[in-house]
Amino acid sequence: MSHSGWKADPQDVLRAGPGFDLSAFDRASTPGWSGGKDAAEEHLSEQGERMSELQERLFAHGRADGTRSVLLVLQGMDTAGKGGIVRHVLGMVDPQGVAVRSFGVPTPEERAHHYLWRIRNALPRPGYIGVFDRSHYEDVLVVRVDDLVPRGQWEPRYDEINAFEAEVATSGTVIVKAMLMVSADEQAARLRERLERPDKNWKYSPNDVDVREKWWAYQEAYQAVLDRTSTDVAPWYVIPADRKWYAWLAVSELLTTALESLDLSWPPADFDVATELARLAASDPGAARP
Ligand code: AMP
Ligand code: MG
Repeated sequence: MSHSGWKADPQDVLRAGPGFDLSAFDRASTPGWSGGKDAAEEHLSEQGERMSELQERLFAHGRADGTRSVLLVLQGMDTAGKGGIVRHVLGMVDPQGVAVRSFGVPTPEERAHHYLWRIRNALPRPGYIGVFDRSHYEDVLVVRVDDLVPRGQWEPRYDEINAFEAEVATSGTVIVKAMLMVSADEQAARLRERLERPDKNWKYSPNDVDVREKWWAYQEAYQAVLDRTSTDVAPWYVIPADRKWYAWLAVSELLTTALESLDLSWPPADFDVATELARLAASDPGAARP
């Protein structure tokens, strides 16, 4: 682990353990990091190189019939910066090895299946870093807040999700769950910017204000997610998101740690290197076309 600049391991300080209280969580804080923004940006680009090598190793492992993968689950209110994580953190590694999937309102086909159907279909294949921009957690967040199904139907989902994630982990996927938490004031500022800047209008949806009106119901639903689904096999990390640079840094650190935990070495060649070198040396096509 490279922790220069970190005063405490982000894995420890950001993990939602028993009794974690979201209402007391400072969304402008920078837990574990006291180096400031410039140092964070510098650290992030160094982290990018480290992550990139680990990701390539994972990809090579996948090519060599390996079974491991990483899944980054991103949850958070509108403007929390889920897209920014994809662009600024995952953007530092080879896009070939990253599979991003966004989950919106279920399509009629998705709705005809169990809510985990579309999630299972989107799980990363061996060798890949999968990223979920929203996830199965919407089925206990928006679904709970908006009463999209009766309580008797969403209530058992917490346990069901835990069992599902345990199964995914057993199959070889390291799950990193990041809950990006923006403050109500910062959300207002970001939504205003999306309205005032024509180049950001596309990110805005009139529905964002409807959702914002239900802020406290969402906070309660997020708290329930933390209370019931922060497991040993797939703990939640709660990331203060008012400072984007901190959120990027924190997620890059969590992701790097996950990649390191795979402890992968470069797969051995499935050919004889000496023979191939000899063949290559003998294969000179010559300067002129015959
Ligand atoms: P966005 O991520 O801003 O593109 O918005 C996607 C929208 O889809 C959000 O308003 C989510 O709450 C909504 N959404 C995602 N999953 C579900 C679900 N399972 N049921 C209902 N709405 C969902
Ligand atoms: Mg949106």
